[in-house]
Amino acid sequence: MKLTFLGGAGTVTGSKSLLETNYKKLLIDCGLFQGLKELRLKNWEELPINSSEIDAVFLTHAHLDHSGYLPILVKNGYKGKIYCSEATRDLAKIILLDSGKIQEEDAHRANEHHYTKHEKAVPLYDKEDAANTLPHFQTIELNKWFDLDNNIKFKFLNSGHILGSTFILFEINGKTFVFSGDVGRKHPILLNRYEYIENTDYLVIESTYGNRLHEQVNIKDTLLNHILKTYERGGTLIIPTFSVERAQEIIYLLSILKRENKLPKIPIYLDSPMGVNATEVYLNHKNNHILNDDDIQSMLTTVHLVSDVKTSKAIVRDKKQKIVLAGSGMITGGRVLHYLENLISDPKNTVLIVGYQAAGTRGRALISGDHEIKFFGKYHTVRAEVAEITGFSGHADQSELLDWLKHYKNPPTLTFINHGEPHQSQALKTKINNELGWKCTVAKIDKEYYLD
Ligand SMILES: [Zn+2]
Repeated sequence: MKLTFLGGAGTVTGSKSLLETNYKKLLIDCGLFQGLKELRLKNWEELPINSSEIDAVFLTHAHLDHSGYLPILVKNGYKGKIYCSEATRDLAKIILLDSGKIQEEDAHRANEHHYTKHEKAVPLYDKEDAANTLPHFQTIELNKWFDLDNNIKFKFLNSGHILGSTFILFEINGKTFVFSGDVGRKHPILLNRYEYIENTDYLVIESTYGNRLHEQVNIKDTLLNHILKTYERGGTLIIPTFSVERAQEIIYLLSILKRENKLPKIPIYLDSPMGVNATEVYLNHKNNHILNDDDIQSMLTTVHLVSDVKTSKAIVRDKKQKIVLAGSGMITGGRVLHYLENLISDPKNTVLIVGYQAAGTRGRALISGDHEIKFFGKYHTVRAEVAEITGFSGHADQSELLDWLKHYKNPPTLTFINHGEPHQSQALKTKINNELGWKCTVAKIDKEYYLD
């Protein structure tokens, strides 16, 4: 058997692991490269395998860096099924259609402004390509073995990273494989904790936080402090928010604060069509999270969900104090810009950062202390308070990854460390070597690993 990492090795994006037996080719995750330009250009390169030769795709979760290449695979002739959990399918639908729309808009903008060196910019894929991917999804129940054929079995287990996220286990000709996808937190805010696994021959584990520990802060109290401080100054609190998981976590925390009568009496909005759709999917998948009916009811009465443009514009214009959650999470686009246009130059207001901010994004510029940021064609002076809550993360940190690994009863024959910058993966490798004494290797992109 042969394992090749076509992405998600030496980087946290573009996850694609190809597992080949003597007669079947299986692809685990099919993600988009994101971030730096040299990575994004890889999305335009051909895969070393024809899409039509792949027999089956298995998706650990819906995030774009794990799912965003699927429309290209299908466009290039992939005919098989995409196996995943039900919640993953529902979220992937939202995420892929949005991604198609963004690719189209980017190409359109490049053509309008003649950014491009090519004759005409074309999108990597469009909304229709994304829509064509959806009929390939085949949902799979968790915690149960399924036969792909007589020799290949697979099973999905909760990984506690985002709604619907899973580890994927294979049993092929008597050998076992585990692909971790992204591993969640030991104490997630809304999800059920990851499952432990006792045995495997081969393990592929992510290492996004392989070199770091998350800060231990009381997130709810910190959030309340920022709300009260801004309220007392007469300002508005604006929270750039990721649509999946983070938006629902914050709405939940706000709903508890409301039940505890700690919130000022000002309106709270989630102004994001994708955030609203993701929240609806979230609340519908009751087996995947800890929320009960009362929690859900309370979340829906705490926050106004806003999708339509007219209402959004009216809220942007309204000068009254409020709390607004809006996308995009790194302020790379989306409705949050319309709020910032009015609010960022007034010291009464607060911009609260609640997620990872990649290099080169406006969110990163803000937390780095930039005095002005550019959008809508001009520079805006930053006078609002910029604050950050660092305790939010959907990824296990180094100690949580080790906690998950320590529950294996026997060391795997070989452990591959993927989904990390080289220093992150290397740090986890050292830790695994020292604390567990396991044989492990940092996955290299496009290298073929032969396994017996
Ligand atoms: Zn993820």
